[in-house]
Amino acid sequence: MGTVLDGKAIAAALEERMRSRVEAFRRRPQLAILSFNTPASRLFELMQVERARALGIQCRNEVLDSARVTPEDVERRIQAWNADPAVHGIFVHQPMPPQIDPQRISTMIDPQKDVEGIHPQNSARRFFAKARIGSCTALAVMELIDSTGVPLEGKEAVVVGHSEIVGRPVSMLLLDRLATTTVCHVATNRAGRLEAHVRRAEVLVVAVGRPRLIPGAWIRPESIVIDVGINVVDGKVVGDVEFETARDRAAYISPVPGGVGPVTVMMVMLNTIEAFRLQGGA
Ligand code: NAD
Repeated sequence: MGTVLDGKAIAAALEERMRSRVEAFRRRPQLAILSFNTPASRLFELMQVERARALGIQCRNEVLDSARVTPEDVERRIQAWNADPAVHGIFVHQPMPPQIDPQRISTMIDPQKDVEGIHPQNSARRFFAKARIGSCTALAVMELIDSTGVPLEGKEAVVVGHSEIVGRPVSMLLLDRLATTTVCHVATNRAGRLEAHVRRAEVLVVAVGRPRLIPGAWIRPESIVIDVGINVVDGKVVGDVEFETARDRAAYISPVPGGVGPVTVMMVMLNTIEAFRLQGGA
């Protein structure tokens, strides 16, 4: 039976390391969060605010009504935070309501304050393996993989999901580490080829948002399985991988909840500290 990767313990260790860095600063970094009034957004925001305060990072948050918010409302907030020297990091929750274009929003955030790494300038730096601020979820996935101590060079890595905020940045980070990386998505599945790709993955990262998409029987024995998916089934939060059966085959597996989620929150904090330093903060 595989080892369950404890995201909460990894997050706590990261927090401990960051605390001394924040304490050494003369000024406090400040994170500004724009969230929407959906249960998932409010829950994530709550975790962000809680961890920021625990670390001594100042936090201001604004919650917008998903049904009523206009693109101008979001843009006005971002422009105000871009112009405010007291704000070092800006995080806009995703998914955004349908009337808001996330690509347009990503270009509006000052790239030095973009703690989710979504501004095209930060995406381009990631492409050239020079990012100082990266996608929080992708960095969390790498942190969980690295916690196993297994070297990635030459490994068969398969990422299921090709979104701009998770699948694509994860695949870039895996490539940077010289894993042989395959990216699967909805069309891979439609073509009936998902199982074959998953079966040969020595490192499998799944970020889709479909419960039980990956049956445990598909997991390659002794592999590393990182489940990014968040789904609510019968009032319970579950991932995209059939956990119990997958655990029997994998060497390491991340649970949902308690895997990628808590580490992602810490990556927001790490990026806020990095953004603070990029802006000359000390
Ligand atoms: P998205 O909807 O933007 O992208 C989904 C991806 O899955 C796409 O690449 C799509 O092609 C693929 N896909 C859809 N249906 C598929 C199918 N039947 N078979 C194979 N591939 C399929 O989603 P996202 O924003 O990348 O989020 C993915 C999941 O990760 C969601 O459950 C989300 O809640 C979760 N998430 C978790 C964290 C975290 O920190 N734990 C952070 C971000 C997102």
